Amino acid sequence: LARLFLKRIGDSELNAFLHVDETLTLKQAAAADERLAKNEAHPLTGVPIAHKDIFVTKDWRSTAGSKILANYTSPFNATVVQKLQDAGMVHLGKLNCDEFAMGSSNENSYFGPVRNPWDPDAVPGGSSGGSAAAVAARLTPAATATDTGGSIRQPAAFCGVTGIKPTYGLVSRYGMIAYASSLDQGGPIAKTAEDCALLLNEMTGFDPKDSTSLEKSPEDYTGCLNRPLEGLRIGIPREYFSDGLSPEVEQPIRNALKEYEKLGAKLVDISLKNTALCIPAYYVIAPAEASSNLSRFDGVRYGFRAENYTDLQDMYRKTRSEGFGDEVQRRILVGTYVLSHGYYDAYYIQAQKIRRLIAEDYKNAFRECEVIMGPVSPTVAWNLGDKADDPVANYLGDIFTLSTNLAGLPGMSIPCGFGQGNHASRPVGLQLTGNYFDETRLLNIAHQYQ
Ligand code: GLN
Repeated sequence: LARLFLKRIGDSELNAFLHVDETLTLKQAAAADERLAKNEAHPLTGVPIAHKDIFVTKDWRSTAGSKILANYTSPFNATVVQKLQDAGMVHLGKLNCDEFAMGSSNENSYFGPVRNPWDPDAVPGGSSGGSAAAVAARLTPAATATDTGGSIRQPAAFCGVTGIKPTYGLVSRYGMIAYASSLDQGGPIAKTAEDCALLLNEMTGFDPKDSTSLEKSPEDYTGCLNRPLEGLRIGIPREYFSDGLSPEVEQPIRNALKEYEKLGAKLVDISLKNTALCIPAYYVIAPAEASSNLSRFDGVRYGFRAENYTDLQDMYRKTRSEGFGDEVQRRILVGTYVLSHGYYDAYYIQAQKIRRLIAEDYKNAFRECEVIMGPVSPTVAWNLGDKADDPVANYLGDIFTLSTNLAGLPGMSIPCGFGQGNHASRPVGLQLTGNYFDETRLLNIAHQYQ
């Protein structure tokens, strides 16, 4: 199995994989075979997996898609990587992503963009573009990814695969290269909800090495996949079906909702009234946290250091100017600005207040329904290059995914159709948002549709 996928990876032109090491992979595969022979196997033993290059790995380079870490190898494995390895999964290699997970199209990677397997002119989405594209192209049966503001759900939608971002704190962030720590959450991307449930069973769990990891008793996420949906109340946020939503996305979403009605669910009109404030709040909070997290990349402790500097300050300046890409530098500047004396109250504190209002909106909505459904993205995947020089256009496309992270809720994307006309081969994703710790229910609801 490992050989089959390695061969496909070798033949692929998607640029989804950044680091592959056949010898190491085959060693893990041999160990899995041995475990199977000794009857010590776990359900996932021998199943190949690939990791987003945000998760650090002891034996593969870990770059976060950045020049500043281009030659970096971690002395330890991220908790998620270790857990999946302990289950006997076979690691195929590291997956391309936007630099430090900042982006929506994978075009911010220092190692070049990833192509969408459905349409080579289209972006795969981001920041987990490599993870979604690799699963869609069957270069791996499953992948890890991270979601700070949509980076599991939006690429899964653009590539026609399934992804789940769990409740904040359920999956350890230890060894996940930090972008915005209060929003970052790891999760799986796979073909189906059932596969995601199997992966989540291994990925979750309390980790003393992550201070925000939750102590919660283990759960079998496959536990109620087959439960009927009779009587399920699905909240439809009216703010999501507005002028900004392209008709070619709205149509498949409406069709999927009709399918859910046929399965016995009821649609309930709800309001997430602060939806329009998600973008400004997120693009203050995430850069603020990023500016702090990325201060560690100073040319001393990790990776790249510029040449020809005059003194320490000059070394810092040159290393960071040459090592970080434009989008990362833009966010460090914005983040430093909104945290600075005199602006902190005007921007950062205001954004935190909006964050609380957004969480309240969800709290109220979940009094009327068990799950919220809507689009993942207002459009299908756009053309490579179309928005590459327009950061604001990228930010605006995040409108439907950011609030889930701001509230810390679990969210999913499942494939539900395709665009129209010359976008007929570009997938559309249906977004499912649940209440805190409702992953098992979300996976059940997704599975019934699939
Ligand atoms: N597109 C969003 C951003 O650029 C979300 C990225 C993410 O979830 N990592 O920040």
